[in-house]
Amino acid sequence: MEAKELIDKLEIHHALTAEEWKTLLLQRDDNTASYAAERAVAVRRRIYGDEVYVRGLIEFTNYCKNDCYYCGIRTGNKNADRYRLTESEILDCCAHGYELGFRTFVLQGGEDPHLTDEYLCTLVQRIKDTYPDCAVTLSVGERSKESYRTLYKAGADRYLLRHETADPAHYERLHPAALRLDNRKRCLYDLKEIGFQVGAGFMVGSPYQTTDCLVEDLLFLKELSPQMAGIGPFIPHADTPFSDRPAGSLEQTLFLLSLIRLMLPQVLLPATTALATIHPQGRELGLLAGANVVMPNLSPRGVREKYKLYDGKVCTGEEAAECMNCLQKRINSVGCRIVVDRGDYKKETESCTT
Ligand code: SF4
Repeated sequence: MEAKELIDKLEIHHALTAEEWKTLLLQRDDNTASYAAERAVAVRRRIYGDEVYVRGLIEFTNYCKNDCYYCGIRTGNKNADRYRLTESEILDCCAHGYELGFRTFVLQGGEDPHLTDEYLCTLVQRIKDTYPDCAVTLSVGERSKESYRTLYKAGADRYLLRHETADPAHYERLHPAALRLDNRKRCLYDLKEIGFQVGAGFMVGSPYQTTDCLVEDLLFLKELSPQMAGIGPFIPHADTPFSDRPAGSLEQTLFLLSLIRLMLPQVLLPATTALATIHPQGRELGLLAGANVVMPNLSPRGVREKYKLYDGKVCTGEEAAECMNCLQKRINSVGCRIVVDRGDYKKETESCTT
């Protein structure tokens, strides 16, 4: 089948076989990518209209016990300048974000042993008590099912946990032996079963990634059917074993965003900071490929430089929450608009009819 026929098939059936995915990925060229983007934007418009959701990202700790080979805040990086925000600093971020119109706060951190259930539950409850109209998203890594259940009961609404690669052999090349793909997947299924809106996702162009790995990623995303999918290019960090590896490509990332929109039409799909890091118009291009979420940084200015998962991460200007006007203008320039809204996942029946 030709690439365009496969894209049409994907739009209608929301699924392809492994062989079809591989054919489509290998046939990517400018025409195919433009066609996929055009279809993806049409699907997004049908479901979310011209609305783009903003999430206030609060990077509240860069301590992590893990040693993922691609990550700048891995425990083995002795050059990382570690910090942990206090509860009152986190609440200040929320207050600032609320004023700016944010109705979702994303608490993101490494797997910091300090983050006990008790600590996180108190934090989530304080935020929810103060801002009952806001959603709280947690992104604090792998935990037990019991722990996830406790966090959900405390009021957390969503959970982000990228699977990074769904190919077991590839997973082993990106992570130390202590980290297992089957446990990562177990976490994602547990989170979904408990009732969280769940976000999975992967890096595009990570070391040793093949087309077959990407096929596995797409099949896994379909099987899990998460409410959110975070897809960004791999970007090397100087203090990691992958410091000399090339970054993932803008074009391939955009193509995958479009394909994921067609496969999971309702998915909440961010134009990621990594995309904005590899291209000055990365955010806008992401929206033009089918994304519908942006996550400006609400962390205190003093710590933004320290939460470096990869090198060159943009953390000023429109990436920062302060410049909401600039961000709004950029988003308007591609026919979308930022809305003051929790930005929950929409079921098909809630689709926009305009
Ligand atoms: S990717 Fe996440 S779990 Fe792995 S080292 Fe970085 S912060 Fe820790």
